[in-house]
Amino acid sequence: MYTDGEKMMELVLATKNKGKVRELKEIIKGAHIITADEAGFHAEIEENGKTFEENALIKAEAVCKAVSKPVIADDSGLEVFALNMRPGIFSARYAGENATDADRVSKLLAELVGSEDRRARFVCAAALCLPDGRHFVFRGETDGVITEKPRGSGGFGYDPVFVPNGYYKTFSELSENEKNMISHRKKAFEKLKTEIEDLR
Ligand code: IMP
Repeated sequence: MYTDGEKMMELVLATKNKGKVRELKEIIKGAHIITADEAGFHAEIEENGKTFEENALIKAEAVCKAVSKPVIADDSGLEVFALNMRPGIFSARYAGENATDADRVSKLLAELVGSEDRRARFVCAAALCLPDGRHFVFRGETDGVITEKPRGSGGFGYDPVFVPNGYYKTFSELSENEKNMISHRKKAFEKLKTEIEDLR
């Protein structure tokens, strides 16, 4: 369905996050996904939007203008109810610029010590920009709770402390396939799929 004759359609993915690249290659089967780096785009993009949707479009548009190919981007993060929905769009920078996933998880658990309200949700905005100026953006959300301690070794980011509703395992304890069936990323890109399929 995504093929152009014998050749698979090429989509450029505007991210350097290896976890996102791995998951999106699984979610968007049938298209040949290359990263912005592989397409020759190496600049840093300033994500100065106020919403996940704005930031996803900023990333996709910047790369699309530079490489003149269809570009997809993902802006995502974790919203925690007891923290007034922080870290939200600042999830990557929550513990400072050079912090690791482990630093971010530790800071989150420290902020939630003593909190009975562990509700949280992952949000993903999936954007597609085309060289002719058309652009699309869709949102996916997955609700869950934050654990007391990290569990599991799979996934990335806040996965070790996030248990999706209806499950006992964290995203890190679930297999990649299981996470990809219910994730915010899967839901957002599932909505974008129709637009991607129409690209032929
Ligand atoms: P972005 O690159 O600005 O979209 O940053 C997203 C940040 O949110 C990532 O660096 C992770 O910390 C977090 N995040 C987004 N999606 C996920 C996920 O599926 N699992 C765990 N953490 C995630």
